[in-house]
Amino acid sequence: MKTPIMDAYINIENVSKIYQRGDSEFVALSGINLTVQKGEFLSIVGPSGSGKSTLMHLIGAMDKPTDGRISVGGECVTASSTDAIAWRSKMVGFVFQRAFLMPGLSALQNVEVPLISRKYNAEERRRRATLALELVDLFSHLKHRPREMSGGQEQRTALARALVTDPPLLLCDEPTGNLDRESADSVLRLLKLLSKELQKTVIVVTHDPVVAQSSDRTVKLEKGKLVSDSLVN
Ligand code: ADP
Ligand code: MG
Repeated sequence: MKTPIMDAYINIENVSKIYQRGDSEFVALSGINLTVQKGEFLSIVGPSGSGKSTLMHLIGAMDKPTDGRISVGGECVTASSTDAIAWRSKMVGFVFQRAFLMPGLSALQNVEVPLISRKYNAEERRRRATLALELVDLFSHLKHRPREMSGGQEQRTALARALVTDPPLLLCDEPTGNLDRESADSVLRLLKLLSKELQKTVIVVTHDPVVAQSSDRTVKLEKGKLVSDSLVN
């Protein structure tokens, strides 16, 4: 598993992903080469179906490439499925377009969920979840259920849930896609803060030009290929 430490935090080398569809094959990604630095805030843009989510899934070890290799922090993203689960829970926080909160649980209980399988007792879980909700500015909403929160507050709760285990890598797939401008901006401010103040590596798939403009660097996918890579700021 261990490979020599390389310069970049994330190294994606000649990665392709081919999906089997019945008898035919579909090339979702081909020949992707990309490096990402620690603490970088990278946005991934491109038309629908261009392979953005597929790439995120590969980086987050939710799926394996057909070819090529990906390493994060000098560690190869991963051979066996058992390893993948352990690796993910240590390394990656995921945020999706929808918050996927459990409706019967409070914000605090939702954020505690990723800690349940860990060794912390109830008090420690509560302390950590409270801190994560404080970070996303929701200290006043600890006891609120999802239906008692706005879309933006739900999404910030999802962000707190992704952060509560303190992962170095945050993968966000259209995190502001369902939000109004003001809520989207508050999520965006948090993503920037996480990258700049806490040195989290943040990768965001987005259709929102404001998000892309606020990132450090934008890469564009088209038909499974990386077609541009440009520094924003
Ligand atoms: P994007 O996120 O850019 O919209 P995706 O990465 O979700 O694109 O999908 C890229 C292409 O791969 C699409 O054509 C999609 O239909 C196909 N695809 C994604 N997942 C699967 C799968 N599990 N099986 C077959 N085809 C898939
Ligand atoms: Mg997608």
